[in-house]
Amino acid sequence: MRAAGYYRPLTADARSEESALRAIERYCRDGSHTLAHVVGPGDPPLREDDQYAGLVSYLESLGRGEALVVIPGPRHLASTLDDLVDRLTELDRVGGEVRCADPDLPDPLQNALESLPFAGRSPGQNRRVRESLLSKAARGEVLGRTPYGYVAEIDGTFRVEPGEAGLVRRLFDLYAGEAPPEISGGPENPKDDGPTGGPGLRRIAGVFNAEGLRTRSGRPWTPVTLSGMLRNRVYTGSYLRYGMRIAGNHERIVPRDVFNRAQTVMASRSPVRRRRALTPYLLSGLARCWSCGRGMHGQERRRSWTRADGSTATRAYRYYACPSRSAGIADEGTGEGEHPVWRAADLDRAAVEAIRSEPVERLRASFRPPEDDSPGDDQRAAEQRFLEAVREVASGRGGVADLATPLEELRASRAMSRPAGAAFTFDAAFRSLQTAHEIELHIAIASLVDRVIVHTDRVEPVFRTGQT
Ligand SMILES: [Zn+2]
Repeated sequence: MRAAGYYRPLTADARSEESALRAIERYCRDGSHTLAHVVGPGDPPLREDDQYAGLVSYLESLGRGEALVVIPGPRHLASTLDDLVDRLTELDRVGGEVRCADPDLPDPLQNALESLPFAGRSPGQNRRVRESLLSKAARGEVLGRTPYGYVAEIDGTFRVEPGEAGLVRRLFDLYAGEAPPEISGGPENPKDDGPTGGPGLRRIAGVFNAEGLRTRSGRPWTPVTLSGMLRNRVYTGSYLRYGMRIAGNHERIVPRDVFNRAQTVMASRSPVRRRRALTPYLLSGLARCWSCGRGMHGQERRRSWTRADGSTATRAYRYYACPSRSAGIADEGTGEGEHPVWRAADLDRAAVEAIRSEPVERLRASFRPPEDDSPGDDQRAAEQRFLEAVREVASGRGGVADLATPLEELRASRAMSRPAGAAFTFDAAFRSLQTAHEIELHIAIASLVDRVIVHTDRVEPVFRTGQT
C-alpha cells in the first residue's frame, strides 16, 4: 500500500540520515509498499515541529486515503512515550498508520516501550514487554498474519475459510448477545443497561476449549486472543491493520450491527475504559466525608441506551462518593446513608460557591501558595493508567485512538500538579475563583482550603490557617 517515510537527523553524522532513509526504503520494498513520499529534515534542516506539520498536511492532502507512515524508529517522531502517543493519535485521525522499519518490532508502541523514556523512567524498565511479545511471536501470533477466519489467495486477497469463520461468528454472537429491544427515551432519560451482552471472554474460551477447538497454532483459546478477534474490523469486510492491504471487497464474516454491539459490550466491560476520566476531579484530594473522614472518590459511570434507529448512545456521569458506602454510587437517592454521594458538578458548584461567599479578607488570610512540585499521588496514578493503556494497545487490544483519553488525563493531572509556584499569588487565586477553568480552579481552591467537608446536603470548606 501507499507509504510515506519520515525521519529526523538524530546525530550530526550525515551517514545516519542516509541509513535512516535506507531502512525506510528496505521496509517498503520487503512489504511491497509504494514509497510515495519522504518527509526529511530538508536543507537547511526544518524545525522539528515544522517538519512534522509537513507530514500531517501530506496525509491530509490524500483525503481519507490511508497511508503507512514508515519511520526508522520511535525517536524520529518523539523523545518520550507520551509525546509519541500524542503524535500517533493525531496521525491516526488523518489516516496515517505508523510502522517502524525495525523488522523485529514494527509496531511503534511496542518499539517505544523498549526505546523511549516515560515519566522519568528509563525504557529498560519495560523490558518485560519485549519478552511477552517474543513469546507471542513464538505462538504464531505475528503481526500481519492473515486473520483467523480467512485464507490469503496468491494475489493477497482474503477468502473465507468456512470452518474458522464458523467459530468467528459464534464468538461474536455469543459475546454481543441479543439485540436489546427498542426503547423510547433519549439522553434525558437513559436506560441503564444498553446491550448487556452474553457471557464473558473467559467463559467463551472455556466453551471452545471444552469442544476441543484450538487456535491455528494448536493452542487453547484465551480471552486475550478472543478479544483481539472481537476488535478486528476485518470481519465486517473492510479495514487494514499492521500495514497490510486488505482487499476492500473481501467477504464479511460478521454483520456490522453485531460487530458494533460487540464493541459497545466490550467498552462497557473493559477495565481501561471503566476507569477513564476525561478531566480530573476538581475536589480531588480535598473533599472528605463528614461522617467517617475518608476522602471522597471521584467516579465515572457510563450509561448506554439504544435510540429509536437502533444506534447506541453513551453518556458519562461523574460523581463523588464516600468509599465507605458499601455499594458505591449504586444506591444514590435511596435510603439515607450517612456517607454522602454527590453528582460531581453539584458538589463542585457548592464548594466554589461556599468559598466565594467568604469575605475577601478571610480568603486573603487563608491563602498559601502551593509549593510542592514533586509528582503527587494523582499524577502518579494517571501515569500508571497511561502506561497500562499503552501496554494494552501494544499487545493488540484496541487501537491507537483508545489512548487519546488516557493521554488527556495524564496531561491534565500534570498541569494540575504544576502550579506556577512562587508566581502564584492571592490575586491569581481570587481571579481563578471567578473563572470556570477546572485546573486553575483546583489550584486556587487548594491554596485557600485544607479540605472540604462533605455532608449529604451541604459542604463546609475548612480554610487554611495562613501560617506555613
Ligand atoms: Zn463516609
